[in-house]
Amino acid sequence: MDTKAFKRTLQQSDHYHRKGFGQTEEAMGMMNTEYQSSLIQEIRQNNYRLQRGNVTILLAEAFGFCWGVERAVAMAYETRKHFPQERIWITNELIHHPSVNQRLQEMDVKFIEVINGKKDFSVVEEKDVVILPAFGASVQEMSLLNDKSCTIVDTTCPWVSKVWNSVEKHKKRNYTSIIHGKYRHEETVATSSFAGTYLIVLNLEQANYVCNYIINGGNKEEFLAKFKNAYSEGFNPDTDLEKVGIANQTTMLKSETEQIGKLFEKTMLNKYGPATLNEHFMSFNTICDATQERQDAMLELVNEKIDLMVVIGGFNSSNTTHLQEIPVYQGITSYHIDHGNRIKANNCIEHKPLGKELEIKENWLPDGQIVVGVTSGASTPDIIVEAVIEKIFETKNLGFSQELIKSS
Ligand code: SF4
Repeated sequence: MDTKAFKRTLQQSDHYHRKGFGQTEEAMGMMNTEYQSSLIQEIRQNNYRLQRGNVTILLAEAFGFCWGVERAVAMAYETRKHFPQERIWITNELIHHPSVNQRLQEMDVKFIEVINGKKDFSVVEEKDVVILPAFGASVQEMSLLNDKSCTIVDTTCPWVSKVWNSVEKHKKRNYTSIIHGKYRHEETVATSSFAGTYLIVLNLEQANYVCNYIINGGNKEEFLAKFKNAYSEGFNPDTDLEKVGIANQTTMLKSETEQIGKLFEKTMLNKYGPATLNEHFMSFNTICDATQERQDAMLELVNEKIDLMVVIGGFNSSNTTHLQEIPVYQGITSYHIDHGNRIKANNCIEHKPLGKELEIKENWLPDGQIVVGVTSGASTPDIIVEAVIEKIFETKNLGFSQELIKSS
């Protein structure tokens, strides 16, 4: 399919909307009422610091809702207002936080069900409205919805579209897109659907493997087994790695994306020499500002004297997981939770350690004076962060009274 031409045609169609319906202010007002927090506002104004009793909270200087998420949620609210009677569907979670998705369900916005690993679009009818989430949708899904002539409201973040434009450029010049991302993540699925030949690398270790193959060759079968599900149909590492362009899932660890880009550039330079580097390597800066700012703020926060970190965000949120990696790699105790309810009575927390399933940690808050660093992913509302901070205070007060009881 000529994906570029398809997108152009879709964007000209009168059943496709990507700019809202002129009720943005009202929608933003609703969002502010539902998701903003006066406590978080107070902490922001107090230089991102709050002390209560023996607890000091240090908030990252960039955290929470990014503008791409705000825009997507506002557009979804607007869509509900604009189409009060129509059935409204979302092709996937609008963003990766359960509270926001639950709120949309309360507004009778339905999610396309996944049956046996496949989305069931058979429920969508011509008079329905379908919202595409902030991280986009694959070109095949868009095409299917276009064929159904339903109304499409596209909330894809412009930063994600920028990556799609990059892979279109790779495709046009017959470069293989090396996509730094997770092959199952919806955004990467969408990005790869716009690419020609592509290979998805998860991390620096995988990138090193590919670069070593480019320089020294290797076992093709082993290569294809290692990257199973992460390359385009018919991909051949012996012939498809002569010209590469770099692209990324916008929420990956920024430093890793940069390292991967530099590694491929160096590899192509070594193999082909400086005179023809541009014929073998192509890169555009597509790291999203919001991801960058949140990760930079986290890097600053872990330089402070903190006893532990709490990272708040959906467990399937890629940008939150990458925020969690920063303190973990620095040896700082860090708890990833999605909601204040994960903080239980008796100083217990149910959290998700990096790369593992949920587990319970007892006595997670130390006795006495503590400094807790707090941040949240780009799809987490401030009101959720407030609930977590209040739970921390609550737990410490209980701990405090227990200490008193013990010593009396
Ligand atoms: S994290 Fe970046 S790319 Fe993702 S929705 Fe937010 S602004 Fe857009």
